Amino acid sequence: MMSYNSLRSLSLYSNSSLKFLCIKKFYSSPALDPIFKKPSKFSVKHQTLDKSFYESCEDVKNTPNKTGIENEIDEDPVLFATSLEKPYHHWTKLQIKKIYNASLPDLMHHAMIVHRNFHDPKEIQLCTLLSIKTGGCSEDCSYCAQSSRYDTGVKAEKMMKVNDVLEAAKEAQANGSTRFCLGAAWRDMNGRKSALKRIADMIKGINDLGMESCVTLGMIEKEQLQVLKDANLTCYNHNIDTSREHYPNVITTRTYDDRLKTIDNVNQVGISACTGGILGLGETEDDHISFLYTLSNMKKHPESLPINRLVEIEGTPKAAAHSTKSLTFDSILRTIATGRMIMPESIIRIAAGRYTMKEHEQFLCFMAGANAIFTGKKMLTTMCTGWDEDKAMLRKWGFKPMKSFTKHSGLLSKRKIAF
Ligand code: SF4
Repeated sequence: MMSYNSLRSLSLYSNSSLKFLCIKKFYSSPALDPIFKKPSKFSVKHQTLDKSFYESCEDVKNTPNKTGIENEIDEDPVLFATSLEKPYHHWTKLQIKKIYNASLPDLMHHAMIVHRNFHDPKEIQLCTLLSIKTGGCSEDCSYCAQSSRYDTGVKAEKMMKVNDVLEAAKEAQANGSTRFCLGAAWRDMNGRKSALKRIADMIKGINDLGMESCVTLGMIEKEQLQVLKDANLTCYNHNIDTSREHYPNVITTRTYDDRLKTIDNVNQVGISACTGGILGLGETEDDHISFLYTLSNMKKHPESLPINRLVEIEGTPKAAAHSTKSLTFDSILRTIATGRMIMPESIIRIAAGRYTMKEHEQFLCFMAGANAIFTGKKMLTTMCTGWDEDKAMLRKWGFKPMKSFTKHSGLLSKRKIAF
């Protein structure tokens, strides 16, 4: 790290104490503050592309045409994404692939511009996740410690009491978390009326603390979601996990469309959706592109987009197959940066497996556009980096915790002028 004396020497070169102060300010500014050039404007054109453009990309053949016209852009998709002032919902796989495969310096640079257009890049949301009903799940998610089908050592437990959950929420809040998430290992909410009522009471208690609330309870119907909405739930989590193509290699007890239906229910009831996936399930980079394609073409982009790096749990099929072996850090970074570019308003969350990343890798994820972390004692059944360690890391780099209920919208695009 550069010392005070080194700064003083720099100022001697510039020969003025005023310049010394300027250099000091520049040196101490948040690590994410390079000077950006304002991107030039690009417009969307509705026209048919050259046929060979389509035919050169296998992925596009399955791309549904949502509008009945060839709703395609003819500019470089990286520049097009950078120029957007509000979310765009008609991405093709080919466009996403071009963004994902851009040179890494270009991809990072443009993701940072988009990040700044829609968010304060110094803000990181701190959330804490608590398992309120652990283990004994009937589903066969091939990565999960809580499935009753695998011998992982996780025992089925009863649902937690409201007071115990609120005590944990208070502890998280005292440590700086502003969003408190509750997870239950269930396939769905059918036949769980009293559990739903108890969860609604937990949500009300979390809201009373001034924290945002999120729950993940499996598949859920609109009437059940209404109970949670009446309790003022901020967000409902239901991950799509991976690409449509790779999904059958991960779970067989519910379909990809079941997952999309749950997310649609969440949106229809008017609760924000938290949905993302897990990298390291033995998928390819084309699966990352297809995964982002599904998310970015949702009528409403996820308010929160968790990116998990699989933690292999002994006893699960994915651990037996060492499915994370083929996952590179480069592809995690590209997934985050591409997600930032094509879903500019979403909060991108580095979720499970962050503790396996080195500090500089986490820093690069923040540069790529991630702006939330899970922090605290545990992440459901896996390890989590603790509050003190995280706060020290973020402070070192000049980040600050995001306040509860911070809204992210294209209105911040006015900030472009400052670049
Ligand atoms: S539904 Fe959730 S808790 Fe159940 S096995 Fe799948 S990931 Fe695990």
